[in-house]
Amino acid sequence: MIIDMGPLLRGEVDSISIDFWLTPEPTDGVEFTSDAHVIGLITNNAGYMRLSLKVELPYRTECARCLVEVSGLHRFDFERTLIEQKADEGCDKSPDDGEDFDELEYAIIKNGRLDVDREVLESIILEFPLRFLCSEDCEGLCQVCGTPKRQGCGCSNKYIDPRLAVLARLLEEDEDQKDDGGR
Ligand SMILES: [Zn+2]
Ligand SMILES: [Zn+2]
Repeated sequence: MIIDMGPLLRGEVDSISIDFWLTPEPTDGVEFTSDAHVIGLITNNAGYMRLSLKVELPYRTECARCLVEVSGLHRFDFERTLIEQKADEGCDKSPDDGEDFDELEYAIIKNGRLDVDREVLESIILEFPLRFLCSEDCEGLCQVCGTPKRQGCGCSNKYIDPRLAVLARLLEEDEDQKDDGGR
């Protein structure tokens, strides 16, 4: 969404509300199951302009440890200070002006317009977690059979020191014989 900032810049209004849906750019390993909902406000407080947005993004991906499907709605907020750049002059603030200029804190109004899509897409890249877990204490995959441990596979209980494996086998055979004997 490109916002016409004219009414705000001319002082005709002191805020512009924002509510729209935006298709996120594809990200490796994550499927965005529908568009992002973007809600917020642009305010002008005596020339100090701020963009404040909330983004809700439905996703589907897999647990980074056990590969089980994980889906949900990722929500985050972000804010930008808006700077007006006139067509025939440079930005009145630029990365050269100060050492602590943080480009991410600012969004630039060019020719009276603000490209909100661009700000949202950039913030999704920054804010969306690189990895998800199905639960904080996910134990990952069974090292023996590859089944997610939380699904249970029984391997872990049966893991036996190789030195004792021979003994275990003898005991199992012994039990099999008992079973046979019982019939
Ligand atoms: Zn997991
Ligand atoms: Zn297993």
